[in-house]
Amino acid sequence: MAEKDKYAVFGNPIKHSKSPLIHGLFAEQCAQQMQYRAVRVELDGFALAAQRFFDSGGAGLNITVPFKQDAFRFAHRLSDRAMRAGAVNTLSRAEDGAIEGDNTDGIGLVRDMIANLGWAVQGLRVLVLGAGGAARGALEPLLRERPRELLVVNRTPARASQLATEFSDIAPLEGGAYDLIGERQFDLIINATSAGLSGEMPELPSSLLTERSCCYDMVYGAEPTPFMRWSAHHAAWAVADGLGMLVEQAAQSFYIWRQVRPETRPVINQLRGALDAA
Ligand code: NAP
Repeated sequence: MAEKDKYAVFGNPIKHSKSPLIHGLFAEQCAQQMQYRAVRVELDGFALAAQRFFDSGGAGLNITVPFKQDAFRFAHRLSDRAMRAGAVNTLSRAEDGAIEGDNTDGIGLVRDMIANLGWAVQGLRVLVLGAGGAARGALEPLLRERPRELLVVNRTPARASQLATEFSDIAPLEGGAYDLIGERQFDLIINATSAGLSGEMPELPSSLLTERSCCYDMVYGAEPTPFMRWSAHHAAWAVADGLGMLVEQAAQSFYIWRQVRPETRPVINQLRGALDAA
């Protein structure tokens, strides 16, 4: 029997990664002969581990915290998306042997909001909370959907202003401190901060939402995050967590590697069921 193509996710920590489960389900669904495992890489050991993986015939890698910038430097060629994001979450070996880097996080977010949740971005007022790697990765796909306005705010305001400068050639956007929100209202609010991981959320004005506002938290878990609870309490029209984004970014990686697009809905449902049962 032919050997299965080898894939893995590199991260640290990695124990709780859902990527092996997601890609295992995709492979089964699409009848792909592949294996996918989670690998904990030493904090200063990314380049060596990735080189060894590809030298030993590995076909593709996902990269998670804290190695997305290392992967960006490791790739020989970068997609436009990865270049803009300054971070890589998907590496693959091209036919000429070069290692190509892409970033599928932002496209995963936009696909989850539009295709799965039925939300829109086009023509709407969009607020992004946070200016770290996830916000950076989301900006290009969001701006390509042509929102009416886009404001990025961050605890460290300079990082948000920097993003506004870097992405302004795609479409106009603003960036800076949370104060910029003032009394403005937004139709779509995306929490791209990691505050929810420690049970926190940024302080937001209670006038922020309209009765049509949708609120998305990139963090996910068995329980609603503080931002999701805040949104529901302030009568948001719809509230979602980042589980669909996780599955959609994986589906895009899978497509890059296998040129087959898996169905994401049953995988999202299975993961949700497992979270609820936990
Ligand atoms: P990151 O680069 O470390 O950035 C973290 C961001 O959160 C920064 O903007 C930081 O502000 C802000 N922040 C942290 N604690 C805060 C607090 N208490 N109050 C206000 N702001 C706070 O992380 P990242 O890679 O962008 O990831 C952000 C989140 O998205 C993580 O929780 C990650 O798990 C999630 N994520 C989910 C998916 C998915 O598929 N669902 C994919 C990627 C990321 P400063 O700049 O001021 O420090």
